[in-house]
Amino acid sequence: MKKHHKMYRTHNCGELTMQHTGKEVMLSGWVQKSRDLGGMTFVDLRDRYGITQLVFNMETHADLCNRARKLGREFVIRVTGRVSERSNKNPQMPTGDIEIMAETLEILNQSRVPPFTIEQHTDGGEDLRMKYRYLDLRRTVVRKNLELRHRMALETRKYMSGEGFIEVETPVLIKSTPEGARDFIVPSRMNPGEFYALPQSPQTFKQLLMVAGLDKYFQIVKCFRDEDLRADRQPEFTQIDCEMSFVERDDLLDTFEGLARHLFRTIKGIEVEKGFPRLAYSEALERYGTDKPDLRFEMKISPMTGLVKGKGFQVFDSVDYIGGICVPGCSEYSRKQLDELTDFVRRQQIGMKGMVYLKYNTDGSLKSSVDKFFDGPGLRQWTALFDARPGDLILVLAGDRELTLKALGELRIEMGKRLGLRDNNVFKPLWVVDFPLLEWDEETGRYYAMHHPFTSPYEEDIELFRTDPGKVRAKAYDLVINGVEIGGGSIRIHDESLQQLMFDNLGFTEEEARQQFGFLLNAFRYGAPPHGGIAFGFDRWVALFAGIESIRDVIAFPKNNAGRDVMIDTPSAVSEAQLEELFLKLNLPSKE
Ligand code: ASP
Repeated sequence: MKKHHKMYRTHNCGELTMQHTGKEVMLSGWVQKSRDLGGMTFVDLRDRYGITQLVFNMETHADLCNRARKLGREFVIRVTGRVSERSNKNPQMPTGDIEIMAETLEILNQSRVPPFTIEQHTDGGEDLRMKYRYLDLRRTVVRKNLELRHRMALETRKYMSGEGFIEVETPVLIKSTPEGARDFIVPSRMNPGEFYALPQSPQTFKQLLMVAGLDKYFQIVKCFRDEDLRADRQPEFTQIDCEMSFVERDDLLDTFEGLARHLFRTIKGIEVEKGFPRLAYSEALERYGTDKPDLRFEMKISPMTGLVKGKGFQVFDSVDYIGGICVPGCSEYSRKQLDELTDFVRRQQIGMKGMVYLKYNTDGSLKSSVDKFFDGPGLRQWTALFDARPGDLILVLAGDRELTLKALGELRIEMGKRLGLRDNNVFKPLWVVDFPLLEWDEETGRYYAMHHPFTSPYEEDIELFRTDPGKVRAKAYDLVINGVEIGGGSIRIHDESLQQLMFDNLGFTEEEARQQFGFLLNAFRYGAPPHGGIAFGFDRWVALFAGIESIRDVIAFPKNNAGRDVMIDTPSAVSEAQLEELFLKLNLPSKE
């Protein structure tokens, strides 16, 4: 061992197995926990690679053992000892067959008692763990997510390079971008009164790179959007941002289906079939009540308006849409379970007034909540419509078309959850295509670009700009996996007059368009190639592969729901001097 005198370790804490028994080794790491059994003291030594059990023997090494007894949680130590076979093996651990009979022990650093236990199941609440995120990151569960993230980034780069894409960095201090969220802005000291914006995406730059002839670009890149936060949103997040020239929609979908399949193969060991299903936006809404359908299970929505309206049931007769889903094997749902579902659809975000059900009992009889209004043959038409089988339960909602479809979509997901049909180990990717180009906003009384203003409409729909702009379809697409939107993009407009038509419909004056995107419009006058692209939400994709809901768990240092980093305590005030240098004065509302 002498020759290793200057070293900290001969092995890491995750690699020693039966084949090493008898070997003299040196390990360094953190004390995860220790158990003092009198004659023996056991210490679990942890590093990034795993946990190895150390044994300190009172009989043979009394001094050493006495010192080991005093080790606190998270002390950093170095030990030498001999690898030996355990009598009490732990098959759950890669190193569970062996232990180290310690011969020397050095404390490299002490630790205060950590504010929560650093183990698989911690007693630390979210706030505490975020405040001490560097300790939270010592936990295997959290670290595993970062390792997964690293591997996904690496495989993305491999695939993209293999396809001829080059990674180009684009600036972070830029001008407002067109993604439709609020910008984060940065005051410029050298240009008093002027501000940079942080990129909501590299959208304009990647299009400029196409004008520049780069042909195939990608970048794993931070983007910034000042939006209200939910569990699956962060003010700064990462995209796999991509753009390519001389392509039409299907070339793009093929290329990026390739990326998805590559990640499934290399990361999850899953062969996903070529030719992901493609679903038009309108159909996604009609059959799944959402533009992010979860295809792991069927239970599609069927419209019933024609079948049940005008039959004397006031609730149905007074609305413009009635639709339902057929839930397999739930005809025996109790009163209480049905009430729960009614409460579910009545909840504020969903906002339905009530729910109608039809039980197709296993004995073939029918029982519904509207028996007073529909006779046997009437109800048989419902079961025929859904192709229902004895044992099924048909759930029906009625109301405004858009809202009701949305509610049916949520009910479908809820039933999928209840029936265990949303298995995290099953993956069903699809492309949602043909989004509307424009979206009407009631509040401001104008159209907005549903994707962004550089998205190309279908040529055959351009006429509709004059008659029914809301009907114009875009060459836009989303990659959706298991009900999660993983990415989205579009074929871009590369023709100046079409771009102008788009700006007109969005209510931009020529002046405004020039002011905001003049650099891009100018560039387009110098031979812009036909081009298109896509961006994937990298955090979300990692979370999906990790089988977790919140993207926070796949980000090393995330912000909380209020957009704060509680560890470094930011955002925070700046000094008077800093403000002066920038010629800024605060004008805060007085506290009530
Ligand atoms: N820039 C777009 C986004 O961030 C993606 C794209 O159109 O490529 O959603």
